[in-house]
Amino acid sequence: EERNGHEPEFMQAVQEVAETVIPYIVSQDIYHGKNILMRMVEPERAVSFRVSWVDDDGEICVNRGYRIQMNSAIGPYKGGLRFHPTVNMSILKFLAFEQVFKNSLTTLPMGGGKGGSDFDPKGKSDSEIMRFCQSFMTELYRHIGPNTDVPAGDIGVGGREIGYLYGMYKRLKNEFTGVLTGKGMSWGGSLIRPEATGYGTVYFADSMLKTRNDSMKGKTVLVSGSGNVAQYATEKATQLGAKVVTLSDSSGYIYDADGIDAEKLAFVMELKNIKRGRISEYVKKYPTAKFTKGKTPWHEKCDVAMPCATQNEVDGDDAKALLSNGCFVVSEGANMPSNLEAVHAFLKAKILYAPGKASNAGGVATSGLEMSQNSLRMNWTREEVDGKLKEIMKNIHDACIKYGKEEDGYVDYVRGANIAGFVKVADAMLAQGVV
Ligand code: NDP
Repeated sequence: EERNGHEPEFMQAVQEVAETVIPYIVSQDIYHGKNILMRMVEPERAVSFRVSWVDDDGEICVNRGYRIQMNSAIGPYKGGLRFHPTVNMSILKFLAFEQVFKNSLTTLPMGGGKGGSDFDPKGKSDSEIMRFCQSFMTELYRHIGPNTDVPAGDIGVGGREIGYLYGMYKRLKNEFTGVLTGKGMSWGGSLIRPEATGYGTVYFADSMLKTRNDSMKGKTVLVSGSGNVAQYATEKATQLGAKVVTLSDSSGYIYDADGIDAEKLAFVMELKNIKRGRISEYVKKYPTAKFTKGKTPWHEKCDVAMPCATQNEVDGDDAKALLSNGCFVVSEGANMPSNLEAVHAFLKAKILYAPGKASNAGGVATSGLEMSQNSLRMNWTREEVDGKLKEIMKNIHDACIKYGKEEDGYVDYVRGANIAGFVKVADAMLAQGVV
C-alpha cells in the first residue's frame, strides 16, 4: 500500500489476488516466513523510455515507452504490448502481475511481463504507425530476446504493428528468431493465434456451462469491444449455436436483436481491421440494429456476458443489472474488466464467473505454442493448434475446480485461478532461493 498506493489499477489487481491467496499461504507451512507475495508484487525490472518519431506533417512527437518484466521464475517474460493513451505504470503493472498467474495457469513455461506506450494509434496513418513502431523497437530491442522476454499484441497492437516491430528488431539484431508472437503466417506465426483469445474465452464459458449440464447453444450473449478478442469470441459463440446481440467500442454499443451472424461479423472485421472505422457504422449497414452512444452493453438482457474491451468496464451497477436481467455466465475476454464490486456481486450471486486470467489465457497459451513451433522450426496445422488450445483451456478449468470448489459444490473460479497460478510460481521461486 505504502509503496504502490498511487497505482490504483495495480493495487486492485493485487487486492483481488491477495484476498484469495493470503488465506492459502496461511494454511500452507512451506510458504511461511518467505515473504513470497511481497516479492511477487515487485517487478524484477521495469524500464521506461523516450519514443520520438516524426508525424506526416513533419512534426516531432514524443511518447513514453515501457516494459515491465514482472516475474521469470518459470520461464522467459511473456506478455503483450499495449498502445493506448491511458497507458501508464499502474496499468502495465496490473497487466504484468495478472500475466504471471495467467501464464502459470497455461502450464507452459512462461514468466510474466507487459509493456507498451501512451501512443494513440487512432487516426494515425499507416506510415505514422510504422515510424512509431520502428522508434519504439530501437529501444525495446535491448531488453527482449527469444530466451529473455517475448512480447505480443494487446489493445492497439495487432498483426500490422507486430510486423513493423519485428522488421525493426530483425534489422537491429541481424537475427530471425521468435522474439515476438502474433507474427504473420509467412514469417513465423502460428495458425489460430489471432483467434485464440476469443475462442478460448468461449471454450471456457462452455466448460463452465457443462458443470451445470448446459452449453452455449441457444444462449443470448452480450460481447463488449469490437477488436481482436471481441471478434473471435463472437465468431466462436455463434458457431456453438449462441446468439451474440451486442458489440461496442469507446464511443458506444450496437444492439442487434437478430444476432451478429457470420456475414455481419465479416462486415465488422472489415470495418475495424481494414477501414479502421467506428462500430456505430454497423447500424448504417444493418438499420434494424440500434446504436447507443457513450454506453456499455451491460443493461441489455442476456444469459452470458463476455466483456472483451478493457479494464473496469463492468462496475457494481452493471453487475446488478446483469444479474437482475438473468445473466448467469460471465467469461472475461479482457483483463480485469470487472471492478472489485462487480466481482464480489458475481461471486455472491454464485453465478458461473470466470476471471480474465483464466478465461482469456488462450491467447498467451497459443503464443506459447507459436514459440514452440519457432524453436522446432515447424508449423502445426490449424486442427493441431486448436486441439492443443482446447486441451489447455480444459486443463485451466480443471485447475480452477481443484482449488476453487467450495463445500456446497459452487466453484469460485477467482480463488481457483489465483491459487493454481500462485502455487507453481511460488514453488519455483522457493526452489531458486532469494534472488
Ligand atoms: P483491440 O485493440 O483489438 O480492441 C480493443 C477494443 O476495446 C476496441 O473495440 C476498443 O474500442 C475497445 N476499448 C479499448 N479501450 C477502451 C476504453 N478505454 N473504453 C471503451 N472501449 C475501449 O484489443 P484486444 O481485442 O486485443 O484486447 C481487448 C482486451 O482483451 C484487453 O483488455 C486486452 O488486455 C485483453 N486481452 C487481449 C489478448 C489478445 O490476445 N489480444 C489476450 C488476453 C487479453 P476503440 O477502438 O474505440 O478504442
